[in-house]
Amino acid sequence: MSLVMATGLEKHYRAGDVEVHAIRGVDFSIEPGGFVCFVGPSGSGKSTLLNMIGCLDKPSAGRLEVLGREVARLDRRAAADFRGANLGFVFQDFNLVPVLSAAENVEYPLRMVQNWPAAKRRARVGELLEAVGIADRADKRPDQLSGGQKQRVAVARALATRPRLVLADEPTANLDHDTALRIIDLMRTMRDEFGTTFVFSTHDPKIVDAAEVVHTLEDGRLVASGEGGS
Ligand code: ADP
Ligand code: ADP
Repeated sequence: MSLVMATGLEKHYRAGDVEVHAIRGVDFSIEPGGFVCFVGPSGSGKSTLLNMIGCLDKPSAGRLEVLGREVARLDRRAAADFRGANLGFVFQDFNLVPVLSAAENVEYPLRMVQNWPAAKRRARVGELLEAVGIADRADKRPDQLSGGQKQRVAVARALATRPRLVLADEPTANLDHDTALRIIDLMRTMRDEFGTTFVFSTHDPKIVDAAEVVHTLEDGRLVASGEGGS
């Protein structure tokens, strides 16, 4: 079964008197273990699409299923529970909690969303910080970390609950070339080892190269779908 399935998907925003058709009749599916990216000019609908797949926003028409659930039918509470149980998010501006250490940021979803016991949380956090290569920075707050280190913390946090699906909106936008490559490599390793599915929106040719499937959006329509560089 596909992990994500969209048919005739539409998203309209009303801005005053104007209706913006952000997504216009889009069809695609994403298979388990996929490494998939959406590309396209600014305003083409990438974030809108990722937000709907992430159950942060609802389709206006058409059908969108994520892990067998129809996104339009999830109420606020059900969507929040579904996200906590199944999804991980990586944002371009990292979205870390400034007053928490790297380790506490990674621990947060395990404590708040999944209510793991303390010993199990500690073990998992240690493992993840090790995996992203910043175990030695565990006690540092975000303002004491470099951009690349913050992004590693964000990736570790997104993976903490072992989500089936990770959504990453421009995850390398603020990183230098080598750090971006390391982060992409890390996500591919997670995919290879644990079968985690990754869906990106990006302008970064390095992600396009690493992806297996590349969908191109233009003005809310899917104008091309093809193989990436890998
Ligand atoms: P991208 O991520 O590719 O830059 P977006 O999904 O952010 O594109 O935007 C697609 C279109 O939808 C744009 O025309 C944008 O202005 C519009 N849009 C996005 N979010 C909203 C919103 N909350 N209200 C009104 N229009 C929006
Ligand atoms: P178990 O559930 O018995 O721990 P798993 O096969 O799920 O076994 O996991 C094996 C190891 O990989 C564990 O150390 C686990 O924490 C780690 N792991 C599992 N899934 C993920 C994931 N999505 N991201 C990162 N690490 C993971």
